[in-house]
Amino acid sequence: MPEARNSSYVDELAYVAKSEGVDYEALRRRVGLGRVIVVRNVRRAGVRPVAVGEGLRTKVNVNVGTSGTVVNVDLEVEKVRTAVKFGTDTLMDLSTGGDLDEVRRRLMEAAGAVPFGTVPTYQAWIDGVRKYGSANMPSDWFLAVVEKHLKDGVDFMTIHAGITRELAEKAVRSRRIAPLVSRGGTMLAIWMLENREENPYLKHWDYLLELFKEHDSVISLGDALRPGATADAHDELQIGELLSNSRLARDAVSRGVQVMIEGPGHMTLDKVVADVRLMKSLSGGLPYYVLGPLVTDVAVGYDHIASAIGAAVAAAAGADLICYLTPSEHLGLPGVEEVKEGLIAARIAAHAGDLVKLGRRAAHEDVEMSIRRALLDWNYQISRSLDPERSMRLKTQFQHDLSSCTMCGQYCVFLLLPKYLSERRLEREELLEKYGGGSLLVW
Ligand code: SF4
Repeated sequence: MPEARNSSYVDELAYVAKSEGVDYEALRRRVGLGRVIVVRNVRRAGVRPVAVGEGLRTKVNVNVGTSGTVVNVDLEVEKVRTAVKFGTDTLMDLSTGGDLDEVRRRLMEAAGAVPFGTVPTYQAWIDGVRKYGSANMPSDWFLAVVEKHLKDGVDFMTIHAGITRELAEKAVRSRRIAPLVSRGGTMLAIWMLENREENPYLKHWDYLLELFKEHDSVISLGDALRPGATADAHDELQIGELLSNSRLARDAVSRGVQVMIEGPGHMTLDKVVADVRLMKSLSGGLPYYVLGPLVTDVAVGYDHIASAIGAAVAAAAGADLICYLTPSEHLGLPGVEEVKEGLIAARIAAHAGDLVKLGRRAAHEDVEMSIRRALLDWNYQISRSLDPERSMRLKTQFQHDLSSCTMCGQYCVFLLLPKYLSERRLEREELLEKYGGGSLLVW
């Protein structure tokens, strides 16, 4: 951010401007204002700069990590490789089981060029309880763990600084269905209630900003009080934390630290657009990272679809980064296949949102795919699909010898119609020009 404000040319911004198909100067201005953040790392060579924010393609994040009951680091590495293969923009390690430093090192190595995030509160709590016997670790212990992650080269971190002691006390006395559903937020709330102290990240906020500035890492302000049931959405707790996070985010920007704010959570579809607009208005247009949102509570086993519906609407309304959910959400730790399914659902949601948010700039591939569909160009359709192996399996599961597919066979509209069509049909280049004028690299 300081580089964008002070110098006319920044390598990473030139790279981002080119890959997103946006004007360099406009991008530089937005980074200077904090409306776009560039997640990258000067300590880890080879990490690809990924920009998140206003006017850019909606990005997708995949969470991986061991749990307290399933510690299989090889499985988590496999999930990381799958997420990279299927096009995630960022990765987060949410591990809570095993040797957390070693797990992080292995996952970061597997992530390669993809920016890597963590939630340091987990390790602060787990190692702290181990060391001190209960949740009475000193407040600067939380900062020490943040510093350790920064020194390891973590690119962005969820920091739940917005949940104040007052909000934590209100949450446990609230009549919410699910008072707190954020794991890190709950750990911090318990710490505050047990020790009768203010949130350690708030207490040491100035030092925290210095650390992130020194290491050129991004703060993702966590939403500890996000609604965990659609009935709890947009209540005093959620909005109270959003106000607190917005104030903190504006302060971080004023001091040259890149920041984004995390959002819900569970909420019905009619609240999603209002939620994004409220956040953007309160924060002054800073990047919004939404966890779903899940638009119903009953999609057990299919929560990746429930969240993709919310995510598409959120992205269309201006959300900038979407956290995927898997079919295992609310049921258990996902396997490799669930990671792939969740990521693909989130990528479709992000792109569907971009077709509204960015218009023609995002539509190039849609126009090209439509043209190839009408031409029965199966090679193109399959090779450019989100999962070519799956597409090929679906295309070939029933035998036939026509150039159409087995859905309509000889009655395929693209076989029946051509001889009646006007010779004045638009050519491919004209169609691309007319409907998909952008050069945004999407798939
Ligand atoms: S056979 Fe039917 S479904 Fe298949 S390409 Fe033709 S029109 Fe589409």
